Amino acid sequence: MDVPVDPRTSWGLAAPGALPRTADLEPLVTRVLAPNPSGMTLDGTNTYVVGDPGSGQAVLVDPGPDDPAHLAAVESALTARDARCVAVLVTHHHGDHAEAALPWGAHFAAEVAAASADVAGPRGRVLSHGDRLPVAGTTIGVVATPGHTADHLAFRLESGAVLVGDHVLGRGTSVVTHPQGDVVAYLESLRRVHDLGPSALYCGPGPALTEDPGAVLEFYLAHRAYREHQLLTALAQGPATVDELVASVYAEVPRQLWPAAAQSTRATLAKLRAEGRVEGGIEPGAGAPVRLA
Ligand SMILES: [Zn+2]
Repeated sequence: MDVPVDPRTSWGLAAPGALPRTADLEPLVTRVLAPNPSGMTLDGTNTYVVGDPGSGQAVLVDPGPDDPAHLAAVESALTARDARCVAVLVTHHHGDHAEAALPWGAHFAAEVAAASADVAGPRGRVLSHGDRLPVAGTTIGVVATPGHTADHLAFRLESGAVLVGDHVLGRGTSVVTHPQGDVVAYLESLRRVHDLGPSALYCGPGPALTEDPGAVLEFYLAHRAYREHQLLTALAQGPATVDELVASVYAEVPRQLWPAAAQSTRATLAKLRAEGRVEGGIEPGAGAPVRLA
């Protein structure tokens, strides 16, 4: 199996750390970058300000960290759009996306909406796949995209752009968490977003993907298949622990990302175990190594 080639390598995307703090992506969308860069959040969390420019209203998607400087930047973006925040939407429960949801919802007196009641809060709205939200002079479609986490949503805009949270990252590939994430669901979610024919993918972290979003989704599918192939190839040499498999399969990835790689590896092994192709200890601390069934 050939190593899948990431189509973005030839796109000339902004280098890591070079994204502007605030950027107008299209008439419906302004992106505000939160000041929380890390190995997992890349440049930092992207907060999206979405609304029809003439509506005087906007929705925040993924408010991100509850950080005063970030709130000030978002309020400046709202002012520049001559809009007030009327709702806060959240792609999934991870703190780098959701931490500010309830405090900022209260600050703006705006409804918070997410797939999880924990994130939406006691007065919030719980969203489901297929919901259509008429808000801020436009309509936002709710697309269930479980995989990275069980509660992950994407939001489809009238322009055809899709806000994908951590389902697809602007750089590199995403993590299927374990035990909550699910590789089979993740692959189905990638195909679901692909089937939408998105005009752009606006990612949780990293640059906007506008040149050929479908090619990125195809690369993600091929990348997952390749990782699975690598694990099966490694296990054909003999039983191995998850840590040994990560050291072998992710040898080219910086070590700071190995804990995340271990989660994706466990998630992939869980899929293979459910298919009856491997057996042994997958969970953290499991004594028995993994082996081919
Ligand atoms: Zn996440």
